[in-house]
Amino acid sequence: MEPMNEPNQNDLNGAGIDPAAPGQPGSSTAARGAESGSARQRLTVVAGPTAVGKGTVVSRLLERYPQIYLSVSATTRSPRPGEIDGQHYHFMSPERFQELIDKDQLLEWATVHGVHNYGTPREPIERALAEGRPALLEIDLAGVRLVKQKMPDARFIFIEPPSWDELVSRLRGRGSETEEEMARRLETARVELKAAGEFDHVLINDEVERTVDELASLMGLS
Ligand code: 5GP
Repeated sequence: MEPMNEPNQNDLNGAGIDPAAPGQPGSSTAARGAESGSARQRLTVVAGPTAVGKGTVVSRLLERYPQIYLSVSATTRSPRPGEIDGQHYHFMSPERFQELIDKDQLLEWATVHGVHNYGTPREPIERALAEGRPALLEIDLAGVRLVKQKMPDARFIFIEPPSWDELVSRLRGRGSETEEEMARRLETARVELKAAGEFDHVLINDEVERTVDELASLMGLS
């Protein structure tokens, strides 16, 4: 299951993005927050290999802490059954995605599993942080590295499976991918697991509620 947010807070065609105000994340808005002494929040970035249960952990975290702003990514992939545009993702054509890149409206973007593009709309994240809301991204490793360059003060958290065999069986159990897609995701997972050392914290997701407890604690929520 994918995590969900209130659709009206994440309308990519509404107030979410201001095409007239491109700029580096954390520049003007961050400076204003610092000057006024407002409680600007740190961004939290969560990553981890396919089928590790990131979606479930994030959903549970949002249930417990509805004040968190969860970024809704733009993607060129098609919706899966049950996925809602504007809640799970902003589904769009490659042309529209390119437009967001050209207008500097994405904090980061990457081609994931070698197929589709995914990106984080910049403005809603900056607004949430400036308003003092904890903000959360769930993105792939390439995206993490880009956010690290742009927002080095963000908190980077890696979620690991208890074991490789467990990861494979969770992916198979999900049953939503073809054999070819599963092989591609496992290959990406192998690479991603080697990158755990690049993160500030590593959580082993052997029990969802405990992982949520640990994540909440790292985010200063509990
Ligand atoms: P799925 O197609 O299963 O929803 O997502 C595939 C992968 O895309 C996930 O592992 C997720 O971390 C990554 N992803 C989702 N949104 C973004 C994004 O905005 N940027 C980047 N770089 N990766 C993303």
